[in-house]
Amino acid sequence: MQRQDYLIRAMLGDNQARLFALRTTDVVKEAAVNHQTTPVATAALGRTLTMGLVLGAMLKGEEMISIQIKGDGPLQGIVVSANGRGLVKGYVGNPRVELPLSEDGKLAVGEAVGKGNLHVIRDLGLKEAYQGTVPLQTGEIGEDFAYYFTHSEQTPSAVGLGVLVGVDGVPLGSGGIVVQLLPDAMSDGVFIAALEERLTHMAAVSSLFSQDQTVEQIVESVFTEIPLRIIDTQKVRLQCDCSWERFEQALITLGREELQELVNAGETIETICHFCNQRYNFTVDQLNTLLSGLGNSRE
Ligand SMILES: [Zn+2]
Repeated sequence: MQRQDYLIRAMLGDNQARLFALRTTDVVKEAAVNHQTTPVATAALGRTLTMGLVLGAMLKGEEMISIQIKGDGPLQGIVVSANGRGLVKGYVGNPRVELPLSEDGKLAVGEAVGKGNLHVIRDLGLKEAYQGTVPLQTGEIGEDFAYYFTHSEQTPSAVGLGVLVGVDGVPLGSGGIVVQLLPDAMSDGVFIAALEERLTHMAAVSSLFSQDQTVEQIVESVFTEIPLRIIDTQKVRLQCDCSWERFEQALITLGREELQELVNAGETIETICHFCNQRYNFTVDQLNTLLSGLGNSRE
């Protein structure tokens, strides 16, 4: 299957707003298979993965961004990580959550997420990672990020996210459109009104991305008569960067005492990556090797 997921970066008007638009159908399909998510969990995870890629697109190369949605709903939270190269990974606390559709016939994402906080952690390669936290507004993810950008980053933003899930539970379309006003435009009432008019009358994002249109065609159909200049495009995909070595490192950081206890227990240790469900086993022999590798150094 040829992957078609990609993100475009563009400017709107006379460089008055920046736009990110992306198709994430394949990302979400793959995540739904990996985690065996129910439709409402697929929608919640898919929207957050989509947002992770947008935040990633605001970074440079190897910088990382993490999203933690800590809500008190039955989904038990969402964690997503992305980088500036279009790679994203993520999981939800309870992928098997089932809820009746909301009154308007939509997947009850807000109810699944519940009340709580949205945390965004930027690892810019410095020792201290920057963190921004806002209270969840609706738990529908899009509105929560619009609030985050406006209040935590002082950038008025509109966020449209959507995952359309078929009756068989397979995602049919997924994507997002994020528009951010640049400082010069914040006093331009005419431009803001035109932008708001287009966004208000935009079709549901999930249906836009389930049709056979390119991302460029979608944004051109939404922002009619507003000059749109595409700056670049970037492929996006779901990819975990876990490895046996990374889990080995995590075991080493447990320290001598705990490692010794694991060796004494005499059983193979099975570790699992939450992001992709890959398992990594460590035999007693391997644990012993790690232990002796610690040498006589004091902790
Ligand atoms: Zn993994």
